[in-house]
Amino acid sequence: MTRPRLPGTLNRRHFLAAASAALLPAPALAQSGPSDVDVVIIGGGAAGIAAARRIAEAKRSYVLLEASAKLGGRARTDDAFGLRVDLGAGGFARSEGTIATSAQGAGQSLIALPSGRRLFAHGREVREGAYDAFTAALGTARRDMLAAVDGGKDVAAALAVTNAAPAAASPWAATVAQFLGPLGCGRRLATLSALDLARRDAPPDDTTSPAGIGTLMEGLGAWLNVQKDAPVTLVTHGGRFHAVTLRGQRTPIRARAIVLAVPAPVLAAGAIRFNPGLPPRLVAALRGIPAGHLEQVAFLLPGNPLALQPNEAVLTAAGSAPPALLRGRINGSDLHVLTFGDAPARTIAEQGEVAALPLTRDWLRASFPTAEAVISEVVVSRWGQDPLIRGALSAALPGQGAQRRVFADTVQNRIFLAGEYVPVSGWGTLAGAWASGEAAATRALRLFGDGPA
Ligand SMILES: Cc1cc2nc3c(=O)[nH]c(=O)nc-3n(C[C@H](O)[C@H](O)[C@H](O)COP(=O)(O)OP(=O)(O)OC[C@H]3O[C@@H](n4cnc5c(N)ncnc54)[C@H](O)[C@@H]3O)c2cc1C
Repeated sequence: MTRPRLPGTLNRRHFLAAASAALLPAPALAQSGPSDVDVVIIGGGAAGIAAARRIAEAKRSYVLLEASAKLGGRARTDDAFGLRVDLGAGGFARSEGTIATSAQGAGQSLIALPSGRRLFAHGREVREGAYDAFTAALGTARRDMLAAVDGGKDVAAALAVTNAAPAAASPWAATVAQFLGPLGCGRRLATLSALDLARRDAPPDDTTSPAGIGTLMEGLGAWLNVQKDAPVTLVTHGGRFHAVTLRGQRTPIRARAIVLAVPAPVLAAGAIRFNPGLPPRLVAALRGIPAGHLEQVAFLLPGNPLALQPNEAVLTAAGSAPPALLRGRINGSDLHVLTFGDAPARTIAEQGEVAALPLTRDWLRASFPTAEAVISEVVVSRWGQDPLIRGALSAALPGQGAQRRVFADTVQNRIFLAGEYVPVSGWGTLAGAWASGEAAATRALRLFGDGPA
């Protein structure tokens, strides 16, 4: 029989390994027994990794429980055609939080992403003036949404942008709607809250890792006390401790605080049981922010037939190609990645390469009709089908935009929520998830009198 791995044991082994290598701060040993820790962190994506790092730096005992075999969650670097490619988050905004400083502290290199994106319509790049018109239309849409939600009321984002000035609509309005909706949130504007979208205020991604963002996240979690293949099935609340039960493990881990860093749709689906149950207010808020769907398709184009700079982004005008966003020549290689949103993304998640190949060929033919861009194989993400993830990001339904504030509440006194869905303005991003993990850990540490009250 395999002996269950106890977090206390892992802490000690990890402590010794880290201390002998004189590398980084090690977690303090649990004080109340071998399977007791100060903090259990559930979910090893960006939010969970950031939370665990902060707890470890404070020298509190902890264990990070990740259901899958890998850290990183929706930041995952895959192998495609013998090259490394991100099929989840492909970059982040350097100014938002501490990912860049953490990466530098860990000796991981970062590179800048090109700013902006190239615009194509009807098979060729648009003229200079069209860039200005697109930017103006984007600004108008944001202003219309802000105006529509002035005073805290909430409507569908589609209503906010079409009601504003239907007669004077920009020729780029439909492209902007695709960019903000299906390509930005994985859902159409008609299904999105104007309040939630208007509050989304994350700067564009400007930084990536040459090794891949997934590899970067794994590196940032490498020295942590992690248990992988450790799906949490039950969290019970009892007195001073919470008990966290893993699938196939009889003895629960007891913790004084929990950072819950699993995706919102995983919680909404009841994949982890809570006893007592989660507060109805929280359950309602989780249901108010269903998943949007984004899926990525990687393919090789040798010889740079699209004439792109490394990591250049390309957006095609609505109506002239299937909605998708291209990131070309990943880190200077022949790899290109096309992101599909909403319905096509759901089809890709369900059917995989069979559906992605014709969609990608259609997009290439429509956007670059004169290029010799022949593809016979693709590698795809299938986030929507992964029971541990269940979508790309969580966006509020019309009328539900105010719900996001609920996630700042502490649950049962000792459970702190973290993840991309938690921040009110930086939601849906890697940097937002990371910052929410750090914030949840800071709040958990205050329970022990650590850090500012
Ligand atoms: C296709 C795509 C492209 C994206 N592109 C970008 C981008 O370019 N820039 C950007 O900023 N953001 C991007 N994002 C969003 C970004 O990836 C996410 O916001 C971020 O990675 C979410 O981190 P997280 O920690 O909140 O959740 P996750 O990364 O989803 O981590 C949650 C973890 O919880 C684990 N888990 C689930 N259930 C359990 C359980 N029962 N027990 C234990 N563990 C469990 C999961 O396995 C997972 O590892 C993209 C997302 C997708 C899908």
